[in-house]
Formats: sequence, C-alpha cells, structure tokens
Amino acid sequence: MQCPKCFAEMETISTDNEGAIRIERCGECHGLYFDQLTKADLSLIENNTELDTGDAEVGAEYNDTVYVECPKCDRIMDQLKIEEPVWIRFELCRSCHSTFLDAGEFKQYLDDEHRTEFEALLPD
Ligand SMILES: [Zn+2]
Ligand SMILES: [Zn+2]
Repeated sequence: MQCPKCFAEMETISTDNEGAIRIERCGECHGLYFDQLTKADLSLIENNTELDTGDAEVGAEYNDTVYVECPKCDRIMDQLKIEEPVWIRFELCRSCHSTFLDAGEFKQYLDDEHRTEFEALLPD
C-alpha cells in the first residue's frame, strides 16, 4: 500500500491486537495508518505506542497536507483537530474509519495530556 501523504511504500506491522486492526507504517515519513480506528479500537492498540518509531519533527512537516486520500476508498479524508487546549490534528476517513497519524502523533495523542480529547474525536 502507498502512503497517503508521501506516496512511499508502507509496510504492515504486527501488533498484539490479535489481528483486529491492520497497522501499516510508511518507510519514508514513518506515518502510521490504521485500517480502522474507533473508540473501542483505541483500547486494543494503546499499548503499541512503540510502533511509532518516526521522528515527530518529520511528522510535523506533514501536518499541513490538507487533501489526503483514503488508501482504502479513495475519498478525501476528514481532518479532525483540536487546537485548544491541546494540539491534535489527524486524518480520518468518514466512510471506512481508517485513520492516518503522522510520525510521533500516536505516541503523543496517547499520553495523559491528549488521550481524552483524541478519543473523543474518534467514531464510536
Ligand atoms: Zn509517508
Ligand atoms: Zn476510507
């Protein structure tokens, strides 16, 4: 699969979520793609933050990419964000619930400061 942001190849990475959610990581920008990410899914993968091996500074360079196509259904993904009180921004496909996080964001959004707000943005 191609990275929806930088178009490099992504590799599937295995997790201990029992195969419920497929996670792919871009070999170039190290963004993380989740083939579905709902509130319930988040609890299945929250212990996998070590998968987020990328450099948050590199990830931040992709924050302004506005038109990101869902690799699964080819429609433009919604950009969800909260700028106050915490800074969160990521892509979510409204039709298949696949989600893309830039390098460093998965780790950041699951910390104590961001988690509640991040989860609230995810579909049920
Ligand atoms: Zn990429
Ligand atoms: Zn989609």
